[in-house]
Amino acid sequence: MCMTDVLVLGAGYAGMRACKVLAKSKLDLNVTLVNKNSYHYDATALHTVAAGTNVPENIEMDIRDAVSDKIKFVQDTVVDINREKNEVDLAENGSLHFDYLFNALGFEAETFGTPGADDIALKISNVDNALEDYHTILAALEKYQETKDKSLLSIAVVGGGFTSIELLGELAYQIPKWAKKYGFAKDDMKITCIAPGFLPMFDKKYADYAQKYLESKGITFIMGGKVSEVKTDGVIYGDDKIFLPANITFWTAGVRGNKIMAKAGYDQHRDRVAVNDDMSLSDFPNEYIIGDVSAVKDPESGRMYPTTGQISIVEATNAVKNLEARLQNKQPVKFVYNSLGTVCSLGPYSGIADINLLGVHLKLKGIIVPPLKHAIFKRSAFELSGLKASLQS
Ligand code: FAD
Repeated sequence: MCMTDVLVLGAGYAGMRACKVLAKSKLDLNVTLVNKNSYHYDATALHTVAAGTNVPENIEMDIRDAVSDKIKFVQDTVVDINREKNEVDLAENGSLHFDYLFNALGFEAETFGTPGADDIALKISNVDNALEDYHTILAALEKYQETKDKSLLSIAVVGGGFTSIELLGELAYQIPKWAKKYGFAKDDMKITCIAPGFLPMFDKKYADYAQKYLESKGITFIMGGKVSEVKTDGVIYGDDKIFLPANITFWTAGVRGNKIMAKAGYDQHRDRVAVNDDMSLSDFPNEYIIGDVSAVKDPESGRMYPTTGQISIVEATNAVKNLEARLQNKQPVKFVYNSLGTVCSLGPYSGIADINLLGVHLKLKGIIVPPLKHAIFKRSAFELSGLKASLQS
């Protein structure tokens, strides 16, 4: 009997979850997963690698160990998607045919065309650039040791959302260690967060707690300031075009989908594609778009849901169920999302959380939050690939 060729692109949370559910399917599916690296990584911990409080090995999981033997894994880079021909072009292995496609190619940093942001600022969107970020910080610290030039100790973090604040927490934790190792006073390190707003997803009381906590660890906040340019020696912000000197600038002010989406001709906005409520597309019904490359409207607010790992996993499960329904001539299952909440770490010893667990709504702050985040990571690793991966870190 002829098997149905299913191709999954990307081994992030969405792609890995799709493979996990596809592997359990009773249908005759020939499933292939394509990913540029041999490993899946926990993108929610990339900021720890960027700040050097963690090493890549702790957030990576070997894909071959993690996915079922029923899934064929091809390590390669997707360079284009030929949607008319049902083919995906790879950098090294030619083209792969699909009957059904799960596109889960993930996120990139969005700089909104801000001059200098693309070329100069550091980004946190994959393991490679997170590790490069850390090496850039180390190079500056080593140069300081030689020159005693304190301007090398200045870092600007652009953005007031989740990634920025979690990064600031890790950087703040490093200040005393770096001060001791490279021979400067803690106050000499100037780390400044510049953003128009601050943690909009949390109640003000909890966002204020986060700000005060980080200030007590040496972080400065400039609120209300939109950065209009990144230069090699600082950033320009605010209506009055104020210059803030910074030897290193992190751009953590936005995400977009993978740029391949525009290249492959998807009807997209910032490389995110609006999908039907069964995660499929009207013009190409054999394609499911899941994770950060998709855009799903929240029926309550009328706005698109934010891009998160949590929603990526729910989307992937829903999309696979809908493929199975389609192949069995059953009705599609509408995508429904109930957020489990948000957990934001402020370094290893504090954080804030707003969570919904078993029908209970909890708001937390302080030392209890980092272990909670770690437990969520363990659970996610376990759900993606079983006991082995969850025991690795
Ligand atoms: P990705 O995780 O981006 O995975 C895409 C995969 O595709 C990657 O493996 C990549 O290597 C691969 N790929 C990309 N291009 C190609 C190509 N051309 N060819 C082959 N393979 C390719 N979300 C939460 O829910 N909770 C949190 O606490 C949280 N914290 C975060 C903290 C940080 C610092 C960051 C950066 C994000 C955080 N997020 C959080 C958001 C979350 O990480 C993303 O929403 C999630 O990673 C999206 O999953 P995805 O599977 O769509 O894409």
